[in-house]
Formats: sequence, structure tokens, C-alpha cells
Amino acid sequence: MFVLKGRIIDGTGNSVIEKGVVVVEKNKIKLVCKEYEYRTPEGVEVIEVEDGTIMPGFIDQHVHLGMGTVNSMLMYTMTPYEKTCQAVWDMEKLIEAGFTTVREPGGFAHQLKGPIQKGLVNGPRISASGKILTQTGGHVDVYKKFPIELNEVTLLGVIADGTDAVRQAARMQFREGADFIKTCTTGGVTSQGNTNTASQYSISEIKAMVEEAEMHGSYVAAHAQGTRGIKNALVAGVKSIEHGMFMDEECIELMVKNDAWLVPTFSIAHMYMENIDTLPEWVVPKIKASYEAHYKSFEMCHKAGIKIGYGSDFLGDPSICPYGKNSMEFERLVHAGMSPMEAIVAATKTGSEIIMRADEVGTLEEGKLADITIVTGNPLENINLLTDADNIKIVIIDGKIRKNTLNENKINSIVV
Ligand SMILES: [Zn+2]
Repeated sequence: MFVLKGRIIDGTGNSVIEKGVVVVEKNKIKLVCKEYEYRTPEGVEVIEVEDGTIMPGFIDQHVHLGMGTVNSMLMYTMTPYEKTCQAVWDMEKLIEAGFTTVREPGGFAHQLKGPIQKGLVNGPRISASGKILTQTGGHVDVYKKFPIELNEVTLLGVIADGTDAVRQAARMQFREGADFIKTCTTGGVTSQGNTNTASQYSISEIKAMVEEAEMHGSYVAAHAQGTRGIKNALVAGVKSIEHGMFMDEECIELMVKNDAWLVPTFSIAHMYMENIDTLPEWVVPKIKASYEAHYKSFEMCHKAGIKIGYGSDFLGDPSICPYGKNSMEFERLVHAGMSPMEAIVAATKTGSEIIMRADEVGTLEEGKLADITIVTGNPLENINLLTDADNIKIVIIDGKIRKNTLNENKINSIVV
């Protein structure tokens, strides 16, 4: 058992507790209250957080671990072994930046849950979709230049056409340990040979995946950028729209009707714009054409009260989107129109809902798992405090301290 004392932002969006106490017993939060309401028992370790803030561990709801590059054509030159090593590196950086949970819509992170649980590697909690269901010629189909077999080694996508094939592909992901299903209902910024406004998959194919996911007690998340593909996804019952760049009023109505989430992923788009000269030539016109529309769609969703998640869509490319810097989404969400508190809720409480684990993580409340991040200063006054991993002083996952850079004198004998 140990006690954290200091300013608390609990992730619910409620007001800050300036002088609070979080009591951790084993792997759970036993109590959250004001300091004067609690008397620390004799001999219990206390971490005094002076000029800092105690928060729930952050949840990045759109990551792809171990991809190593933003160039979809180079992704296929990395072996699964290289990708696994890259993923281990990515996870270390995520924890250093305060992320205690990630959601991966597409990749192999579901295979990392076991090694993390066994203690073989250090990693955050993971909610993952397994491979992305894509139609022939779809966003994550590698075509034109490469043989079809390469889809197997990307660890990113699986091609399935027709309702029977998508049902089987969805069932296969669940069999492999997926928590939800990811598909693409439009082309994308990074894929070669299609536009990001082109629709992919018929409504009946998307419906078949939705039915399979719902039978499994889960849902479908859709990479959807163009208007028609967003609508098709929502009409078919998709629960989470990833990117959602070109929305119109009808999209918003459907979002409200489905009680759907938007995970906008501004960070990756921003880093593409910042590094435009280094990008493959097919990416450049698409990112330029969608950049502004992306923020407009967000504004419409935000105004309509749609729940918005925190997702960086980073891929671990060392020069453009290394993990650790995925915390820039805090700044992007505020830039897009959220208050700092709303951005924090997006990365905590809303994230826990999107991974279907709201009863376990996402807020500092009695009975929840002790996933806690402590940052220097007050992020409500300066959201950028959260975007530099050096400001992340302590990270606790499941009651265990995974990072600790606070002054040694102030943490008594608690060790990692
Ligand atoms: Zn993505």
C-alpha cells in the first residue's frame, strides 16, 4: 500500500482536487479524497507530489506498434522479427510518456499481450483489433508493385471480399485474440493508388462485420476519411470513426444516432504536413487536400456533443512519428477547439469507454486499477506540459511503478 498526495485531475472532467490523496492498495485504487479527509496510517509510504498533478494513466486510442515507417511500401521490407523489436521499443517510449494503455486498430499488438502479462517485456495494457479487414485494392492492400503474399508479412491487413469472406476474416481476428474489428471504408492518405475520398466495401459487407463483432460482444472501428465511406460505415452500424476527415451534416446526424465515437488522429496528419518534403509523392496531395477539412469535421462533431477520443495514429517512424511524441495529440485537440480538461478526458475516461473497459481504467476512482501518471505542473494551465516525456515523473501500471524520476527524497523507499 502507498499514498500519493497532491493535485488530482481524476479523468472524469469534474473539478480539480487541489490537495488530494490517492490511496493505492495492491493493484487497485482504494480511495480518492481530499487530504484533510484522510489520515495516513503509521508506516505507509507517501509520495508527496509538490508542484505536480496526479492523473489517470493516458490511453492512446489509435496506435500501430512496430511498423517503423510511414512509407507503406517500406513497411513490407521489415521482417516480423524486426517489427517485434520495434514494438518493444515503442512500448517503452509510450510508458515513459505516461501512456498506460493503448488501443491498436490494425497490427499485431494482440500478440504482445501474453509476453507483457508474463513480464517478458515492459508494455502498456493493450486493446487490439488484429489485422485490418480490407477489400481487394483497399487502403491496406498492397498492390500494384508487390505480390499479394506481402499482405501476410505486413502484419497489418487481411484481404476479404464479399459477406462470407468478411465474416470469416472477422471471426479469425477474434480467434487470434482481437478485442474489436477494424476495417477501412475509404482509401487513405498513405496508401498508393487510391484517393482518400473513394469508398471501400459495400454496406452489406460492413453490416456482416458489424454483426460478427456484435455477436462477439464488441464493435467495428472504421478507417473512414471521405464522406460517402463515413456514411456507409455508420449506416451499417460502425461504432467508431477513425480520422473522419470529410464530414457533412448527414454524417453528424448518423454519428449522433449511432452514439458513435470520433478518433480524429490529428497528430499524424500534422507530422505529415511538417515533414512534407520527405513523404512519398502519392501522400502529398492527399494530406494537403484533407488537412483543413479534418479540423472542420472535428468542430462539427465537437459542437454536436459527439464523444471524441485521443488517437495519434503514430507508427513509430523514428524521423516522423516516434512514440513518446504521440503525446502531441493533447496539444492538437486543444488547438482544434477542446479545453485542456476536455483533451484530458479524451485521453482518459473516453478512452476507457472506447476500449470497453470503463469499469477498470480511465479515471481515478475507488475500485479501479491503479494506472496513474504524475506530471510536473498543472496541465490545465499549460497543456504542453503533457507533450514532453521529461515532465512525466511517475508512471504506475497495475499498482507497480514503471517510471520514477521524482526527487528521491520525496518518494521515501518506494522503488520501481
Ligand atoms: Zn491508423
